[in-house]
Amino acid sequence: MEKTAHTAILGAGITGLCVAHSLRTASLDAPASYHLIESSDQVGGALQSTQDMGYLAEHGPNSILIKDQRVAQMLDDIGLGDDPSRNQLHESLDAREEAKKRYIVQDGQPHAMPSSLIGMLRTPLFSTRGKLRFGLEPFIGKYKGREQGKGEESFADFVRRRLGPDMLASAAGPFVSGIYAGNPENLSVRHAFPRLWNLEHHYGSFILGALALQWGGGKNPHRLAPSRMLSFRSGMHAMPSAIAKHLPKDSLKLQCQVSSIEPIHKNGKTGWSLSWTDASGNLQTGHYRQLVIAVPHHQLPSLPLPTSVLNALDPITQLHAPPVTSMVLGFKRDDITHPLDGFGMLIKQTENSPLLGVLFSSSMFDGRAPDGHVTLTCMMGGSIHPEYAKNDEQVVLDELNRLLGVTGSPTFRHRTTWNHAIPQYGLDYQNVLDALESCESHHPGLHFAGNYRGGISVGDCIVNGLELGRSLTSTENGA
Ligand SMILES: Cc1cc2nc3c(=O)[nH]c(=O)nc-3n(C[C@H](O)[C@H](O)[C@H](O)COP(=O)(O)OP(=O)(O)OC[C@H]3O[C@@H](n4cnc5c(N)ncnc54)[C@H](O)[C@@H]3O)c2cc1C
Repeated sequence: MEKTAHTAILGAGITGLCVAHSLRTASLDAPASYHLIESSDQVGGALQSTQDMGYLAEHGPNSILIKDQRVAQMLDDIGLGDDPSRNQLHESLDAREEAKKRYIVQDGQPHAMPSSLIGMLRTPLFSTRGKLRFGLEPFIGKYKGREQGKGEESFADFVRRRLGPDMLASAAGPFVSGIYAGNPENLSVRHAFPRLWNLEHHYGSFILGALALQWGGGKNPHRLAPSRMLSFRSGMHAMPSAIAKHLPKDSLKLQCQVSSIEPIHKNGKTGWSLSWTDASGNLQTGHYRQLVIAVPHHQLPSLPLPTSVLNALDPITQLHAPPVTSMVLGFKRDDITHPLDGFGMLIKQTENSPLLGVLFSSSMFDGRAPDGHVTLTCMMGGSIHPEYAKNDEQVVLDELNRLLGVTGSPTFRHRTTWNHAIPQYGLDYQNVLDALESCESHHPGLHFAGNYRGGISVGDCIVNGLELGRSLTSTENGA
């Protein structure tokens, strides 16, 4: 088979970019050649940032939690890490110390989440009964339902069983809104929160498991402790942009519309043939040994894939991903009574709020608002109230007034709606994983990656992309 390059990657979000980065760096003697083909005019997918009038608005993620050495290494490689000899861009920003404080709204008031035993005893967020129930956690047995044919345990059932209903309503539920914009009753704890699930599985208790990990237990050789919350001076888009700048010339192809994807079988070898219209309107064709598809799961049906692949992908395309709107508003500091001394606030469901939560963006990182001003990032929508993704500004301002004492008019505004924001790893998510594995094994050289597989966080997408790239390089070296 005559190949144009070793690998074609479709989609230059953070996942596709990290596959490309890994192909470039994994084998320095003979880096694998590839084409990274993106339909839009910029890299980064959900990681987009807008700077205007001294404000910085993130369209999607506001930060990345770095808890894996491979992510830290990748940042060093692209000049965004700590290594002073390679950190030419001086872009990395650690979250401020005060961002460790998080608020939960209860009875119309933001209350700081307790971070110590004394704080836990004093907080009004949990009832006395709830606090006592929390202390029983190490004595609760493991979930036996799967062996008994009861299926997956939901995150809500897991928290109710181990920690009690109070903890679900007051902390775990809002936490799920913050990460998945999801409904805790419908998320599989095993798939959506594998680290929590593993603590029960390996240590019999997540309080004891968390303590064991803190004291150096666990077998993850990649673990970075303590973890760090980071962003970048010019916003989250700095990371995809820096990865792209380090890719070989002509490997990244923006504004390309793929028109055909076909398997090739020739002389006992297999591969993939792709055709696309490039940014100038010319038809291009390439032959590849490997094809990585890193587009969002809801875009898979629109790809010109063979019918056998599209049929096999049915469970993936059915994954629910609710809409979420991120509304970034700037205000004069004097127009807000709350001290905004934290990461932000999550809101209990019983509050019937039109918001999922609010990030105190200018308290988290420097450079998010001009002097004397602040930036708030309001998230709304999600699985429980998808219709709230359409809330107008006045609804948001009224709620900010009620919860944070915001009075004046916004001095800056930026709104992004993601119609399929975050894929929900639901109770039948194992079918998704099985379908992906089966499809890949029946179609040699075809690989799927993205936030619908192996974790939705930016950090998970980076690690999964890097590992996939590494496995493809070893395929090439061994081939
Ligand atoms: C509002 C919001 C807030 C979030 N907050 C956080 C956070 O604070 N922390 C965190 O860790 N995570 C957060 N996430 C999650 C995280 O940002 C995403 O899960 C992650 O960025 C997804 O990356 P991806 O590469 O898998 O997909 P995407 O970013 O969706 O990238 C896919 C790429 O494929 C391209 N594409 C689509 N169709 C085609 C095609 N036919 N041909 C070629 N290319 C195509 C797209 O243009 C895009 O560039 C947030 C997500 C959202 C939406």
